[in-house]
Amino acid sequence: MKVKKRTGHLGLLFILAVLLPGLFLAALAIRSIDREEAYLEIRLRQTLEAELGYTITLLQTELADIEEELRRSAPAAPGSDPGAVFATWGKSERLIQVPFLLSSDFRILWPTPTDYASSDDLAFLNWNRDFITDRTAIPYYQNIALLFRDQITESEAGKSRFPSFDSEEAAARPKAADIQVQQRALSEFEKSEPLRKKVYDTAKELGQRTEQRTVSPGAGKVSSEETSDERRESLFISEPRKFSQIIGDRESGLIPRFIEEELTLLFWKRGDGQQITGCVLNDEELKARLLGRLSAIFTPTRILTLLDENGRPLITPDEDVQRDWRRPFAAREISALLPRWEAAVYLSDPGAVTARAQLTRMFLWILIGFFFLSIIFAGTYILQTLRTEMNLARQKTTFVANVSHELKTPLTSIRMFAEMLKEGRQPDPARRLKYLNLMVAETERLTRLINNVLDFSKMEKGKKQYNKARLDAALLVRNLLESQRVHFEHNGFTIGVSGSAGQAFIEGDEEALKQALLNLLSNAEKYSGERRDISVDIEVSGETVLILVKDRGPGIPPGDAKKIFKEFYRGDDSLTARVKGSGLGLSIAQKIITDHGGNIQYFSRDGGGSIFQIRLPRRQ
Ligand code: ADP
Repeated sequence: MKVKKRTGHLGLLFILAVLLPGLFLAALAIRSIDREEAYLEIRLRQTLEAELGYTITLLQTELADIEEELRRSAPAAPGSDPGAVFATWGKSERLIQVPFLLSSDFRILWPTPTDYASSDDLAFLNWNRDFITDRTAIPYYQNIALLFRDQITESEAGKSRFPSFDSEEAAARPKAADIQVQQRALSEFEKSEPLRKKVYDTAKELGQRTEQRTVSPGAGKVSSEETSDERRESLFISEPRKFSQIIGDRESGLIPRFIEEELTLLFWKRGDGQQITGCVLNDEELKARLLGRLSAIFTPTRILTLLDENGRPLITPDEDVQRDWRRPFAAREISALLPRWEAAVYLSDPGAVTARAQLTRMFLWILIGFFFLSIIFAGTYILQTLRTEMNLARQKTTFVANVSHELKTPLTSIRMFAEMLKEGRQPDPARRLKYLNLMVAETERLTRLINNVLDFSKMEKGKKQYNKARLDAALLVRNLLESQRVHFEHNGFTIGVSGSAGQAFIEGDEEALKQALLNLLSNAEKYSGERRDISVDIEVSGETVLILVKDRGPGIPPGDAKKIFKEFYRGDDSLTARVKGSGLGLSIAQKIITDHGGNIQYFSRDGGGSIFQIRLPRRQ
């Protein structure tokens, strides 16, 4: 009862300490499995966004380099023969498409629309005359987040005040101190949708023009079901400005212009005598320079490219003609100098992320499966072992009590007969001999009991030794029965024996074999109940000798037939409960017989009762 209670506690402990945390972990794992694809996409997006950010910085640097390069190489004073000076400039600088020269009051000094003028020159004059002579305004682009940086950062600080802005004043601030504010403004603007809307609204109210971006950023998602084609407003807003307003009192700069929906860049620089030197940039060369800044355009995971003002990729992988370039995985606008241009990234194989997520998911499921199987196996194994160990502990305790009781019975008989003889109360010599024989038999049983206990510990340590010799099995059995006959008959048993001496020889330790046999005989006696009939048969069968110990007791329930040979095992029927025993008899008998190369088996006997069959190798 106690053991059961304790294993019950252990079961509860197992559930609380192992199974529940295990289940909890598994539930967590399953949740994360379900989100695996989303996680992968988020991680991928973060990586690619970071890469885009870096690319934008590189492109902006390249634009600054281009301006600086042109500023340094542009002739300060083209003098009286600008054609010759510009020819030299054009040879040394591949970025120049058409050079021009303006007087300080915006008159065109070069190119002149003479008969010798090239078609490029004429086209330039055609498209730009009105602008560079300061007569018409063109859209002037600025980064909205930078333009409204003060409002953005102030509103973030809790003062949601949107005063009218003065960009001139903002532009006049010292640069270094401004960088932090700029960064903050950009990131706040990027983060908050309501803030963006507010800023765009203010810009529109102030006469700024906003435009839609050429792509739907983030439309090319991994999981294709939830694509959004929503286009965002461009980060670059414009207002009409004349040439003189754009250049202000700056020294040099680049101006983006759309001519028939195609973007051209104009470079200008103030020279000696306030003349303005400038040029239209060569489109091919500009694109080549910008693309040169992109490191790895195609990797196994993604394609990184630049989209021009009309959403056309500047460079594509050869086999990738079918792609919808307006739906990138992620995209960013580049600069106010390149309005409508985007740096965009596409997944080489959008299915790969899903496939990878599926693989990870499968792997995790297998892991969870293994985890559970091992918990269940280990758990049951541990519980099982604990239960056996506890049973054993309980058996050992009852064993001590039982053995002491078993020792007492023969001792009481011996003492009783010894006292009778001592007091000389029995004058009949035949009776006196019987008492002495009974005392010898009881002593033998006592020895057997003590030997059982001693042998058991020897056997457990593997230290039991045998003195083997050639023995006549029938003789051995008959001698043993003879010594016990008086005891059995005294207790009302009839003992039969069959098999004659001189036929069944074996190799063995006489004392050990006698002990094994006595254990069987003692069981036959203990568990016989009312039908007190024991017989032992010795048979020779081929190369084996069989010794069968039979009784007419209740036999052994089928489920117990294997267990009875286990040490400390005792049947739990009412008969066994009444009879004292150590639970060692059969296990010791079996050990002795197997040490002799044989075995013991139990059979139920026809007509009721047990048969214990010892099988030993025969010796000639
Ligand atoms: P013990 O007799 O000390 O209990 P054993 O190892 O000799 O231990 O026997 C184990 C169990 O096998 C006994 O408790 C009993 O239930 C059963 N048993 C052994 N021999 C017989 C038999 N001849 N008839 C019925 N049951 C038996």
